[in-house]
Amino acid sequence: MRFEISKVLDAIEGRVCTDPSLARAVLDLAEIIRYQDIDGGRPASLLRLGMVIDALSRELEEDSVQVYAVVHRALLSDADLTSNERMVVRRWADDGLVEVLDNPGDRMLEVADLLGLPVLTRVRFDGLRGRFPWLVEQPGRVVAPVPGAGGPVFIAHVGGGHAPVAGKRSPTGAKLLARQWRCPESGCALFGGGGAGGGAFADLAGGADRSPAAQPPPSLRNGVPTCPRHGARLGDGGPRPRTEVLAVRVGGLVRRRFVLSEEQPVVAGRAPEQEGGIMLGQWLNDEARRWISRGHVRFELRVGEVIVTDVSTNGSGIRPAGSMNEADRIPLAPQQSRVLGENDMIELYPGVQIGRAEELPTGAPFTPTSVMAEAPTMAMRLPRP
Ligand SMILES: [Zn+2]
Repeated sequence: MRFEISKVLDAIEGRVCTDPSLARAVLDLAEIIRYQDIDGGRPASLLRLGMVIDALSRELEEDSVQVYAVVHRALLSDADLTSNERMVVRRWADDGLVEVLDNPGDRMLEVADLLGLPVLTRVRFDGLRGRFPWLVEQPGRVVAPVPGAGGPVFIAHVGGGHAPVAGKRSPTGAKLLARQWRCPESGCALFGGGGAGGGAFADLAGGADRSPAAQPPPSLRNGVPTCPRHGARLGDGGPRPRTEVLAVRVGGLVRRRFVLSEEQPVVAGRAPEQEGGIMLGQWLNDEARRWISRGHVRFELRVGEVIVTDVSTNGSGIRPAGSMNEADRIPLAPQQSRVLGENDMIELYPGVQIGRAEELPTGAPFTPTSVMAEAPTMAMRLPRP
């Protein structure tokens, strides 16, 4: 049982991030884990985060969606959590996967404002609607997770609209995210890079080794970019590397997104050997698995253009403007390169496509993979409809 819970928590770990390009909603972890009415279980449970993420996945009709979690520091020693859960949250904090704050205040709304993300919460923010007008003006920017048949569902809240809807990055957010930032605290998990911390225990995805392209948005205090964790003024580390968000669609369903930055190319294939490679094998049938090479296509971002190079044995094809008409498909032979147009997608094998995330919606009846798939039924105890 303990072992299985650990596996669920590991799965949930893959769904929390502070990367502005990948997070799809903001939430306050301390609030979510106390939604006792969702499963009638313990006063606090980290598994509820997984249930809310599943609900978001169903709403967005996309697998592997990630959320930006703001975490009150008191949670790291919350006696209502199991020691295992506390240990897991501490690990997320150390790796910069969540944002830990002494006093979260209105940071959740600030992140939502800067990044244009929807907020998953039951709080009504009566005093903050003047400062964040989108709370009431944009339906779906705030939705409340509540119990539903078969897991949480979202209901209309504050500005109406029951489905979570993203807005645009605020002008301030766009300005802040054009630069990379340095925290003077050594080993800062959010704005590290200059510090001496991290070291052997720093995860590649976060901590002191995180890519500047994946840095969270700074907090603005009196107009000054500040580390939300340490309250320290951030140094300007120069322009942030440019990025494009690409999505993998297999069998009509968006399975995951990934960030391509100017810093390094990304290889996608059945099981790429390169660091940071995008593995598709788990979504492929036998025929697709035979056709698609371990490393099949390489993406590079150069002066704002996405260059795709076939590095496979069997080749691939480009579908201009996402056309599914066979006559339009442009073959891409092994070792051939091409600029990926704004609406183009590359097809590694029929039904296995990669393109810009906003141009690649889910196009088939959707059955999301649950992040809770490993959860023992005892831990779920979902109310019967
Ligand atoms: Zn810091």
